[in-house]
Amino acid sequence: MSQPLHEAEYYEILDEDNNVLQCKLCPIECTMLMGEKGKCLARKNIDGKLYSLTYGATDMKIDMIEKQHVYHFLPNSRAQTFSTYNCNLDCDYCTMPEKARQDPEQYMGKRFAPEQVAMFGIASGSRVICFGEAEPMISFEWVRDSAKLAKERGLKVLIRTNGFFNREPIEAILDHVDAVTLDIKSVSNEGYEKNCQRGNFEHIKSIIKLIFEKEKLLELNLVIHESLGNTLDETRKLADWIKTELSPAVPLHLARLLPAHRLKEISPTPKSLLEEAYTIAKEVGLHFVYLDNVPDHKANNTYCPTCDELLIQRTSTITELRRISLTGNCNKCETQLKIVFK
Ligand code: SF4
Repeated sequence: MSQPLHEAEYYEILDEDNNVLQCKLCPIECTMLMGEKGKCLARKNIDGKLYSLTYGATDMKIDMIEKQHVYHFLPNSRAQTFSTYNCNLDCDYCTMPEKARQDPEQYMGKRFAPEQVAMFGIASGSRVICFGEAEPMISFEWVRDSAKLAKERGLKVLIRTNGFFNREPIEAILDHVDAVTLDIKSVSNEGYEKNCQRGNFEHIKSIIKLIFEKEKLLELNLVIHESLGNTLDETRKLADWIKTELSPAVPLHLARLLPAHRLKEISPTPKSLLEEAYTIAKEVGLHFVYLDNVPDHKANNTYCPTCDELLIQRTSTITELRRISLTGNCNKCETQLKIVFK
């Protein structure tokens, strides 16, 4: 299959005579000689221009939106989900390493034009288009073009990202996105180096603040496990930061780690550790804390932060709106919550 070429955005020519380029999409800022690819393998210097090799490369499925670990954005909605290829991080517990590290020049799968993204979304009766897995920002140009068209056609857009990208492309994508769910890998720069080979929490915090200040619906996710160095102190540190720098109303998902990739030999995170982390995040003062990958636990439900009424109940199979109005008010005490229904 011939490789469709789509020129990338966000790069600089460092040396015109020798065709040396620098990609500016993420803070790694790879320098590439002619014929070289960046660390994500998805962007290549061809004859002195930078090209995106993953434009349109995606798998597609229809899921309930809760599968994207977002609980406050169009709860119980059908979502047309596009999972893209390649990633700029290389996490020890990646659940799809073949996809994240694939060579796009060997890719034989489907490619969708932005028009098809919106078309499939509308045809399937979905209210929202989701871009996720492996890392949609790697396919920045395609995701931006598709999100723009989807919004013009009346669909909502959610992106799931690791947040390790430069400010300018993040700002550009946010113009066409309604909600963001962001996976935090560690609460320290050292943790990013250890767990994901690269990444920088200080930078990612600045991106999280940017998303919050742009008033996008934002949900954060932290994987809890001893082997990652993400346990109780780290939960407290993150919860404190969210409460102080963002808002106690930003949902925090604490996820159970399941064995995968370079961590196949570990045991899943004990439920007791997750429950302790949950208690700490609530004690710090966060209003909405959830336990992910623990099916049917009551910490999957949304409770009113004022009167503790059960508002939304989630089991492994269904999401049920209980005592919440479609304007996002608790039916018992009328507290207004930032939960988007339309
Ligand atoms: S997006 Fe890819 S090519 Fe660009 S700087 Fe990041 S890892 Fe390197």
